[in-house]
This record gives sequence, structure tokens and C-alpha cells, in this order.
Amino acid sequence: MRTYNPRQRILVTGGAGFLGSHLIDRLLERGDEVVCADNLFTGTKRNVEHLHSHPRFEFIRHDVTFPLYIEVDQIYNLACPASPIHYQHDPVQTTKTSVHGAINMLGLAKRLKARIFQASTSEVYGDPAVHPQTEDYWGNVNPIGLRSCYDEGKRCAETLFFDYYRQHRLDIRVARIFNTYGPRMHPNDGRVVSNFIVQALRGEDITLYGDGLQTRSFCYVDDLIEGFIRYMDLPYGEDGGPGHPGPLNLGNPGEFTIRQLAEMIIELIGARSRLVFLPLPADDPMQRKPDISRAREYLGWEPLVPLDEGLKKTIAYFDELLCTGA
Ligand code: NAD
Ligand code: UDP
Ligand code: UDP
Repeated sequence: MRTYNPRQRILVTGGAGFLGSHLIDRLLERGDEVVCADNLFTGTKRNVEHLHSHPRFEFIRHDVTFPLYIEVDQIYNLACPASPIHYQHDPVQTTKTSVHGAINMLGLAKRLKARIFQASTSEVYGDPAVHPQTEDYWGNVNPIGLRSCYDEGKRCAETLFFDYYRQHRLDIRVARIFNTYGPRMHPNDGRVVSNFIVQALRGEDITLYGDGLQTRSFCYVDDLIEGFIRYMDLPYGEDGGPGHPGPLNLGNPGEFTIRQLAEMIIELIGARSRLVFLPLPADDPMQRKPDISRAREYLGWEPLVPLDEGLKKTIAYFDELLCTGA
């Protein structure tokens, strides 16, 4: 039985971003009230423009590194730049967003006795020595490299979440999200799916970093959001459910080389782009694939959208974006 109580007021931090805006759409669809708090660093008002006059939607421009005093029933904490270009732009701010942002949102949840969800990441596993990655793997992370502001910030946020759970009995949900793609990704954030689609649509060269044999697993955004909501609604412990599942991997276990992804996108678009090989960025993980047994067991969840189908929807989005010059 679900504990979900209709018409809750839900705070989504980072709600004007790629994942946050899809989450808000789903929450509004099922009847919740949503407050979106975002400083618009990487997010854009365009992602939530269609909700402008929605009676159950409110946008507040707010930076989560500062305290926030509002009244809500649940919190989804997604605020954080997610692509290497963005999070390396101001690395100190990235760590602050993860760490101070987590402290403030946990403090808010503690005062309100509200359930709180953290958007963590597969990056907590670093360049993994275990494959596929299970939640009990502790990771292989460089603490002083270019990706560390993001990886260590997210690791510290997980520490804070589990300490608030143990120390203050807070109702926490920590999702380790693996690479996700779909409409509303940023066209210029340097992530592989958006880069390759934009390059192929423009007939430009496709930029493969390294030999293109590194692997990733790509989850379509609708599948991921379904996982978020099931996890947030999961009863556990004192609610009569099983014990706390701990962090949950959410992602698509299908594993592709970056070269395969490039070839698939070229074929779907019918592009004439050539593949060009550029140097591999520092600390770029060679392999990544989630073990989602725990999410399957606890949430009865698994991704349903195959890569080619999700890519077609994403290509259609970028095609329109490039045509309208937005
Ligand atoms: P995004 O950049 O599109 O969204 C992040 C949002 O957070 C943006 O709207 C941005 O303006 C906002 N933000 C950044 N710093 C903030 C601050 N200090 N205060 C308030 N708002 C702030 O990225 P996304 O892909 O939607 O990612 C959302 C979350 O999911 C992030 O926490 C990210 O780390 C996590 N995640 C995403 C992926 C993925 O593949 N997309 C994978 C793993 C984890
Ligand atoms: N906080 C907030 N909103 C609230 C309650 C707390 O933003 O409604 C912030 C506040 O800045 C505080 C942080 O959350 O510093 C951590 O709160 P907590 O109560 O855990 O710790 P303390 O206030 O004792 O530092
Ligand atoms: N990548 C690439 N060409 C690009 C952008 C990325 O070959 O134009 C590679 C990148 O080096 C990495 C993989 O694609 O190995 C995924 O990169 P992304 O930044 O999307 O995600 P992450 O590295 O955080 O998983």
C-alpha cells in the first residue's frame, strides 16, 4: 500500500533544470502543489514556462546555499549543476551547492518533519573498479581532480543525508542517478547525448573523446522520473514497509560504447557527420553500468524505453530547438 497522500505541497530545488522540470510536470499531473526553487545557474525559465499560469505551481528564485524558510510536505533536492562544463565553471560554488545546499534542505526537512529526496549520482563511484556498480561499492574517486568538486560534494551530501537519518530520524531517500537524457537537456552543456545530436543535426563532425570505447548506460528521462516518484512514495520502517533500502541506483543497465552511441545517432538522423577523435578528459571513467537489482526489488521498477526510441524523441526536441533558434 502506498502512503501517498493526495494534494501535497512539494518543494523541488533545481526545478528549472532538465530533470527537475520533468519531475514537476509529473507531480502537477497527479495533483500536487509544487514550489520550484532555482537560482537559474544552469536551469532556464523556458523549462517551466508552460507552467507560468498553473494554479498549483510557484517559482522562487533562490540559491540553496542560503537558508530557506517555507512550509512544504516533501522535498526533492536536485539543485546542482550536472554537466562537467557547468560544474567545473565555478568548482568552489559546486561543492557549496552540494554541501551547504544539503545542510539547508536537511535543516528545512528536520523542522518540518518532511520526507526528503537527494539527487545523488553514479559519480560517487568515480572510475569504478567494480562492474556493474552495486550500491555497496564504495567507489574509486580522486579527491583533488577536476571532477572532485562534483563527486566529493555529492559524496559529502550523501554522508549528511545518512547522518540526519541516523541522528535525527529524518525520512530520507538517496537516488544514485546514472546518465539520463531526453528533451530539455541543454544544447551546450557538453554532455555526450546532446553534443552528438546537435553535431549530427548540423552536419558537423562528431567529437569522440579518447578511442570512444569507454562505456555508459543511458536512461530516458521518463523512466528515471518514474523511479524518483516510486522511491519517494515507498513506505518503509515505521510506515510498515521493509527497512531503509539505503541509496538506490536508478539508471538503465543497457551498456553502450560512446562510439556505438555516435553511430546510432548518425543513423537515426541520417547525418553525414564524420567521427573525429579528441583527447580524453582527465579522470573520465572507462566503464559505467548500474546494477539495479535493489530498485527492482524495492520499487518494482525498471526502465522501459529502449535507447533508439528515447533518442528519437530527444532528436525531435533538438531539431525543433535548432529550427526555432531558441
Ligand atoms: P541541470 O543543470 O539541468 O539542473 C540543475 C538545476 O539546479 C538547474 O536548474 C540550476 O539552475 C539549479 N541550481 C544549480 N545550483 C543551484 C543553487 N545553488 N541553488 C538553486 N538552484 C541551483 O541538471 P540535471 O541534469 O537536471 O540534474 C539535476 C540533478 O540530478 C543534479 O543534482 C544532478 O547532479 C543530478 N544528476 C543528473 C544526472 C543526469 O544524467 N542528468 C546524472 C546524475 C545526477
Ligand atoms: N534551515 C533552513 N530552513 C529551515 C530550517 C533550517 O534553511 O526551515 C537551515 C539553517 O540554515 C540551518 C541548516 O538548515 O543552518 C541546518 O539546520 P539544523 O536545524 O539541522 O541545524 P542548526 O540550525 O542547528 O545548524
Ligand atoms: N564524450 C565524448 N564526446 C563528447 C562528449 C562526451 O566522447 O562530445 C564522452 C566523455 O568523454 C565520456 C562520455 O562521453 O566518456 C560521457 O560524457 P558525459 O559528459 O555525457 O557524462 P559523464 O562523463 O559525466 O558520464
